[in-house]
Amino acid sequence: MGKGYMGRILVVDLGTGSIEEETVPDAVYETFGSGMGLAAWFLYNRIPAGADPLGADNILGFVTGLLTGSGAFMTGRWMAVGKSPLTGGWGDANAGGKLSPAIKRSGYDGIFFSGISPKPVYLKVIDRKAELVDASHLWGMDIVETDETLKSEVGKNVQFAIIGPAGENLSLISGIANDKARIAARSGLGAVMGSKRLKAIAAGGKQTVSVVNPEKVKELNKKFMAWFNRGRETMAKIFSAKVLNASGRFLRVSPVGFALSGNQAKALLKKYGTIATNVISAENGDSPVKNWSGAGFRDFPVSTHSDKINPQRIVNYEIRKYHCYSCPVGCGGILRINDGPYPVGETHKPEYETACAFGPLLLNNNLHLIFKINDMLNRAGMDTIGAGATVAWLIECREKGLLTKKELDGIDIGWGDSQAIITMVDKMIRRDGVGDLLADGCKMAAKRLAKGEEFAMHAGGQELPMHDSRYDPGFAVSYALEPTPARHTNYGYQWLELFELNRIFKDLPARPKLFKAKSRYNPDDKIDLLVVASRYMQFVNCVGACLFGVQMGGRLDLPAYTNAVTGWSHHPEYYLKMGERVQNLRQSFNIKHGIKPLTDFALPSRAVGSPALDAGPLKGVTLNTGELFAKYLEKTGWDTSTAIPTQGKLRELGLDDVAKDLKP
Ligand code: SF4
Repeated sequence: MGKGYMGRILVVDLGTGSIEEETVPDAVYETFGSGMGLAAWFLYNRIPAGADPLGADNILGFVTGLLTGSGAFMTGRWMAVGKSPLTGGWGDANAGGKLSPAIKRSGYDGIFFSGISPKPVYLKVIDRKAELVDASHLWGMDIVETDETLKSEVGKNVQFAIIGPAGENLSLISGIANDKARIAARSGLGAVMGSKRLKAIAAGGKQTVSVVNPEKVKELNKKFMAWFNRGRETMAKIFSAKVLNASGRFLRVSPVGFALSGNQAKALLKKYGTIATNVISAENGDSPVKNWSGAGFRDFPVSTHSDKINPQRIVNYEIRKYHCYSCPVGCGGILRINDGPYPVGETHKPEYETACAFGPLLLNNNLHLIFKINDMLNRAGMDTIGAGATVAWLIECREKGLLTKKELDGIDIGWGDSQAIITMVDKMIRRDGVGDLLADGCKMAAKRLAKGEEFAMHAGGQELPMHDSRYDPGFAVSYALEPTPARHTNYGYQWLELFELNRIFKDLPARPKLFKAKSRYNPDDKIDLLVVASRYMQFVNCVGACLFGVQMGGRLDLPAYTNAVTGWSHHPEYYLKMGERVQNLRQSFNIKHGIKPLTDFALPSRAVGSPALDAGPLKGVTLNTGELFAKYLEKTGWDTSTAIPTQGKLRELGLDDVAKDLKP
């Protein structure tokens, strides 16, 4: 058995009830990594072409990172994988918390489920002993209720992955939760779990992750910690809500771009979490406003709107920080809300994506609505981005007279209308009335009602995240061309600034600290870096690292950690190649399942600035995505007219069998 990984997976057929342990060859780990790479290797080979995502042939996997459990900082993410019912192609979603090391302690690098159980069940797996347990009594419970019930039944030292009512109701925007509110929310994999009648997994045990060079891991942690603590408190004091508000206004008009840095990231994430940029992003154009049709300074101004959801107002409710496994940052938080119109009590702090999807996107400045909706969606296990974008679509359709009040079950809903938004989200969760039409996201809603398709902001059915591609065209590439579309956790130009990959890959240029703001519309100087970032992020997902660790300016040296844990002695470029292999295998999965990436995952015209906005920092911006995408595809080694990996690229990566499958 190798080091860092357990060397085995658990394969469960829910139709027959069979539970088998399978050994994974060492070469698979060294070629594909673990995590997303292990999943790509397994799912590409085992899910038949054309499988129904909600049928018995689809496989739902829970995979851990290669570094998870090794003690390396910020490497505790797990990933749900399967064929996505939302896009019809490769699906994945990841979350932090404490589940991933628990799966590893149960003895496995991953657990894969096929088939459909005749009744609701959960899988209990502790120290390589696994059994399917009747979950009829849990069916219908929300995430928090299920978590607490399972804790009393199975034990406190066991961690859970759970679906709520949204997953049970096969909502295509449902996810899978652990730690009560860390949700692997994207790709609609909660519905896959629901279709299999798998309510939860409960994992734990005492199996240990062996590490070849634990002293080196400690040394890398120590070096990271020394940098992390240096100057952070001072910087955090400087970043008051007033300074953040003023920064947003300044950045809106500044002709000079200021590169983001790991030093800012460490201070802001520790102090506020991801909500740190709520106000800045609404002002500078990063955050889409009014379903991507508005301008922050005009439609969501600081004075009356964005300041109302500023990060300080949110952390004023924080009673303790929340840390994922092995993370010194603790960007999460537990709030206590005992005042306002929706006193939800103890609840998880909303993330930036949630605050924006239910803030500027809907022109809502009621912070308590955001707390309430966040709590509702976390309990239901529904994607907050998907839900917010679907409500935004609905409001715009209503505003433009495409939908009548009667069609909305008598609910009149407008921009920023708190109570109507809550009622509509509740209906979506329960699939009640018009909520049934909305529960599968904005693409399906527009299709079913045959209305407002042009206002449905999605790529391939996956709702676009809260980073505007017109502000950062790097996200346009990521949203449209990655094997999993509409994903902000891959890369954009802003992420490139934060990644500072030149600290790890010495041949890359250092990021300039200042640049002309308009230069972000010239792709030539950034395409190479986007290609590297894409490959690196696949590797990041193979080792189970947190995106925010990567955003610490290259100080979280994942290739060095990987060598220390596994005993391999590969050059950092080896791991880029690993990432590239995984990226190509995931894209090949899409092609095998009939996806035509350039048409099926095309961006809505608004997301590329057609028509261009009439005001604000993005006024007049229209992206030349034809040129941008062609350059990216050429560098990636994919056919520029189809985005299919070329035969030469697949063979170069050792994916000869895949090349044969895809041969025209
Ligand atoms: S930075 Fe936040 S999301 Fe990432 S590992 Fe730490 S606590 Fe979890």
